[in-house]
Amino acid sequence: MEKLGAYEIDLKGMAEDTCSYEYVLDDHFFESIEALDIKKGKVDVSLSVRKTAGIYELSFTMEGTVTISCDRCLDDMEQPISSEQVMKVKLGDEFAEEDDMIVVPENEGVIDVAWYMYEYVVLAIPMKHVHAEGECNKAMESKLSQYLCAQADDSDEESTASREIDPRWNELKKIIDNN
Ligand SMILES: [Zn+2]
Repeated sequence: MEKLGAYEIDLKGMAEDTCSYEYVLDDHFFESIEALDIKKGKVDVSLSVRKTAGIYELSFTMEGTVTISCDRCLDDMEQPISSEQVMKVKLGDEFAEEDDMIVVPENEGVIDVAWYMYEYVVLAIPMKHVHAEGECNKAMESKLSQYLCAQADDSDEESTASREIDPRWNELKKIIDNN
């Protein structure tokens, strides 16, 4: 992975109790971080850092779009992203991710937010993401539905076969018919 030094926040070196950063997560960002699911993107991020009583509160506001695969036709689609996330960080002996707190080694005093921002973008993608109605790749869609139908036919045959194999039902039927 390419060095993403541009996304390092110098917590220990903060001259004021608040500071803010602006980022654009672009194609280059998603490429550098080796994102598997996100092919391209343009997400604006404003990050404000607030220091209170030894705790650093990092608030991310993210707005933009990413290019991902459509669930229905697998073609590229643009997914709008809108997300707000808060991360709490404190300085400590060694790096740790606790329940709602990240501990950064005090002797470094720096946190790289690149991977966290990537994770926030991934979290903001809805579970089901498809093109608007009628905008899917028709050719691909019909190929996929043929494939799914073929699978469904196979499973029907299997269940018919298993009903025929099991002779107990015939025996039971005889008993019922005789009464
Ligand atoms: Zn689609």
